[in-house]
Amino acid sequence: MNRKWLLTILIFLGLVLGIVVGHLLHDDGFRRGDPESVHTHATVLAVFDFLGFTVFMGLLKMLIIPLIATSVIVGVTSVGDFSKLGAMGARTLLYYFATMFIAVVLGLIMVTTFRPGEPMAEQAAAQVADDAGGDETSWLDALPFGGAIRALKTSFVELLADELGLPAAEESGVTDRAEGGLIGIAKNLVSQMIPQNIVAAMSAGQPLGVICFAIFFGVVATFLGQTAQPVVVFFNAAFEILMQMVHVVMWIAPVGVFALLAKTIAEIGLRVFGDAISGYMYVVLGGLAIHGLIVIPLVLWVFGKCNPFVYLHQMRQALMTALATDSSSATLPVTIECATESGVSKRSAGFVLPLGSTINMDGTALYEAVAVVFIAQAYQIHLSFTELIIVAVTATLAAMGAAGIPSAGLVTMVIVINAVNGSLAGQGAPPIPEAGIALIIGVDRLLDMFRTVVNVWGDAAGAKIIDRYDRGNAE
Ligand code: ASP
Repeated sequence: MNRKWLLTILIFLGLVLGIVVGHLLHDDGFRRGDPESVHTHATVLAVFDFLGFTVFMGLLKMLIIPLIATSVIVGVTSVGDFSKLGAMGARTLLYYFATMFIAVVLGLIMVTTFRPGEPMAEQAAAQVADDAGGDETSWLDALPFGGAIRALKTSFVELLADELGLPAAEESGVTDRAEGGLIGIAKNLVSQMIPQNIVAAMSAGQPLGVICFAIFFGVVATFLGQTAQPVVVFFNAAFEILMQMVHVVMWIAPVGVFALLAKTIAEIGLRVFGDAISGYMYVVLGGLAIHGLIVIPLVLWVFGKCNPFVYLHQMRQALMTALATDSSSATLPVTIECATESGVSKRSAGFVLPLGSTINMDGTALYEAVAVVFIAQAYQIHLSFTELIIVAVTATLAAMGAAGIPSAGLVTMVIVINAVNGSLAGQGAPPIPEAGIALIIGVDRLLDMFRTVVNVWGDAAGAKIIDRYDRGNAE
């Protein structure tokens, strides 16, 4: 058995064992209330947390920024021709937008057909009673990085509301709020793309700024030709070294994947699949399955002219890593490795994958659309066709604005809710309560695992398609 197969089997075993052990621990933690077993339970979870988050995800995250910088520079400098670079950029963006929009429409069709929110009306009413007089954003505290996300959400929503002079939901008109929301999202994206200080952006781990800097750097290096050659050679070598580092880190993946999954499942349990919320979960998971197993393979087959299931198989290590880490960014080193090993050129992978891991999020877009309509159904708020269009457009943009980190989609969903509320307010209809997010937060981590897999799979498919056109041009 070769080493690659051995590693794949070990990661798969880690994944299955993680789910089984997590499930047993969840049951155990609930059944036995004595202080000693509670203490042991907490210690085991702390060990899993250390192995999964501190060691495995830490190592992957350590590689992200240097890998983004070098892979984008290598990608851009190896294209070598500005018109080709422009065509590649335009195709990449078209692919991102088109597939995300298809995902959103698919999610909307599923959620309006199966209407999973209706059986939740009672629970939603109880939620309103609980929230009366309370902090309406308390749902944020239930998130793994509640404080940081609160800051992110505050800055995002404040950016929309204050800096752009957006009216509050209650005061806004029919269209101005939605337009403001769209401009707000675009402005936020652009401000991330042009960081005031590139070193600060790198140390803060902001990928979008680093990508834009690297594209700019690569374009100018290409323009300078021979003068810049030593720097280009340096970045090529640095990229190869970093890829070897990814190889080494992947041998820790079986333990890391096991620990991450065991901890997540121990906290959430699998019994949620039998709860009232399960209708919503099945709609999200069904939508993700259709998108991941039918839509993306079709697009790949038609435009990438390759066997999508062979490629899916070649991406298996990246997809399993995405499932365990809940993070497209943390998975990026593995995605680049699998894609280049499957034959995608370094330049297509370097160009498409880093950008894709931060802005191309098919799974997140689908999930945001389903979640917002689900919350509206639970609160018995009727959404007209216009509002569904607002959901489609803003969910696409909000997913683009979501970072490739755990639970990011849950936070940017506030943008979609606010945009829809603007339209509802114009008709004098009650708004969708932002606190309705509390209804879905308990199962968000589970869904995040699967939407991240679809996000990474969409990026990988994009790299293959762009590579095919790039090779066609080169011939
Ligand atoms: N966790 C997702 C990702 O990293 C983003 C999200 O939907 O929360 O791709």
